[in-house]
Amino acid sequence: MKDNYRIGSIFGIPLELHVSFLLLLLFFFIYSAVTLNPGPFIYIVLLFATVTLHELSHSLMAMRYGVKISKITLLPFGGIAAMEEIPKNPRKEFAIAIAGPGFNFAVGGITLAVILALGEGHRIFPFFEMKIESATDLLLLFFKINILLGAFNLFIPALPMDGGRVFRSLLAFKLGFSAATEIATGIAKMIAIFMALLGALLPNLWLIFIAFFVYIGATQEGEVSRIHLMLAGLKVRDLMSTEVVTVDEDITLQEFAEVIFTKKHMGYPVVSGGKLVGIITFSDLSRVPREKWATTRVGEVMTRKLLTISPEEEASEAFMRMARAGVGRLLVVSGGRLVGIISKTDLLRTLEIMRLMRE
Ligand code: ZN
Repeated sequence: MKDNYRIGSIFGIPLELHVSFLLLLLFFFIYSAVTLNPGPFIYIVLLFATVTLHELSHSLMAMRYGVKISKITLLPFGGIAAMEEIPKNPRKEFAIAIAGPGFNFAVGGITLAVILALGEGHRIFPFFEMKIESATDLLLLFFKINILLGAFNLFIPALPMDGGRVFRSLLAFKLGFSAATEIATGIAKMIAIFMALLGALLPNLWLIFIAFFVYIGATQEGEVSRIHLMLAGLKVRDLMSTEVVTVDEDITLQEFAEVIFTKKHMGYPVVSGGKLVGIITFSDLSRVPREKWATTRVGEVMTRKLLTISPEEEASEAFMRMARAGVGRLLVVSGGRLVGIISKTDLLRTLEIMRLMRE
C-alpha cells in the first residue's frame, strides 16, 4: 500500500492525501451511509477542507519568500508542506510556520463573531459536543475545528510541527540555526516519547501515531541541519570524483555487469558516440532477470532523465537535490561537458572523515 495518494494540485503544488486520512474519509463515509446520519462525514470533510487551507497558508507565505513548495501532504491532524529548503533565516521560518495556525485563528475569530452576532454563543460549550442539525451547527463545528487545529499545531513546541518551527526560529534569533535545531530537535524527541507513553496508557492510537511522526521528523531535521553545517563552504568540485567511468549504450548487461565487478562503482553515465545519453545503476541491472543479460542492451534499461549539477554549486545543494529526487548520484556538468560524478557515498564518506578529524 502506498503512503500518499495524489489527489490534485493547487497553485501548481501537488496535493497528496496520506493513507490514514484516506481511510478515515472512507470509514466516515461508510459509517454515515450505514447509520443514515451525514454528521460524521460532514465533520471529516470540514476537517479535510480546514487542513488543506491551513497548509495552503504555509505554502503561500513560503512562496512569498521565494521558497519553493514541492508538495503538500494532508494528514488528519494537520499536514506537511514540503519545502524544497527550510529557510535558515529565522524571520522567514517564523512567518511561514505561523501562517497556518494564524489562518485557523483568523477564520475561528470570524466565525466566532458570526456565531455571537446570531446570538448562539451559549452553544459553544460543551466544546466537544459536535452534532450537526442546522446551518448554525455547521458554523459551530467549523469554528471548533479551526480553533483545535490551530491550537494543536501551534502550542506543541515539537519539530516538525508548527509550534516546533516557531520555537526553533525564536531560538535561532539568539543562537543561530544549528544550535537552535539541536535544542529544538532534542525537546521534540522528548515530547514525542511523552506522547507515545501517554498514548499507550490512555490508550489512544492517534497520540502514538503523532508521536512517531514527530520523532522521525525531528530526527530528520536534525540530520539535515548537521549535514548542512558540516558541508558548509564546500563545493561540488571539492567532493566529486573526476575519474568517471562511462559505459556505451550498446553494450549488453552481461558486459555491464563485468564493468561493475571490476570498477566497483554503483552507477555509470551512459554515452553514445561520445555524447551523454543516460545513467545506469546496479539497481537497474538487478531488476532484469539474469538470463536476459546477454540479450539486453544498456540503452534499454538506463534512466534517460539526467540529474546534473554544476561543479561550482554548494555541496549541501547536491545533497538536497539527491534527497529530493531519491537518487544516489548526480552527474557534474560544466559547459555542457561531463566533468565528474558526485554520489551520496562520496558525501557521507567526507562527513565521516570530517567527524573523525574533529574528534
Ligand atoms: Zn501547519
